[in-house]
Amino acid sequence: MIPITLSWFVCFYLALFLAGVLILWIGYEIVRKRHANILARNRVFCRICGSRYNDISSADILHCPVCESLNERTTSKE
Ligand SMILES: [Zn+2]
Repeated sequence: MIPITLSWFVCFYLALFLAGVLILWIGYEIVRKRHANILARNRVFCRICGSRYNDISSADILHCPVCESLNERTTSKE
């Protein structure tokens, strides 16, 4: 068995606990950003009438449901 003092045991335990919290935090942040990007991609702003609508199709040119004008899906991250 490896001889270890109480202070080293506490330091090792704290380091493992904080590393686990950091890994979970990074994982949740990656999932949250991916979900936010999907929602932002589906949200379209009509430049003619100013309405906002959601479209889940994969087309880049979309018809506005209010004024029937064509809008381009923007990929800028705001
Ligand atoms: Zn419109």
